[in-house]
Amino acid sequence: MRLLFWIAFIALVVFAVRNKLRAMSKRAAVPPQARPGAAKAPVQIEAMAQCDHCGMYFPASESVRADGHDYCSPGHVRLPPP
Ligand SMILES: [Zn+2]
Repeated sequence: MRLLFWIAFIALVVFAVRNKLRAMSKRAAVPPQARPGAAKAPVQIEAMAQCDHCGMYFPASESVRADGHDYCSPGHVRLPPP
């Protein structure tokens, strides 16, 4: 009788853990854009640019453009890549 109790208890724990893992992996697999309602919300995703000198990423609106290249700051304009 006691053995039966433990078998039932372990089965319950395994079931609960598996349920929790499935819920976690499901949440991680869905990207934020794919969630219902996310498409209508105003998403502040800005295009990113990469500095031609130091390789740093920054918002495209803050980029310093020169000769068709993007730079993170005026100090890096026209400096060669490292
Ligand atoms: Zn830079």
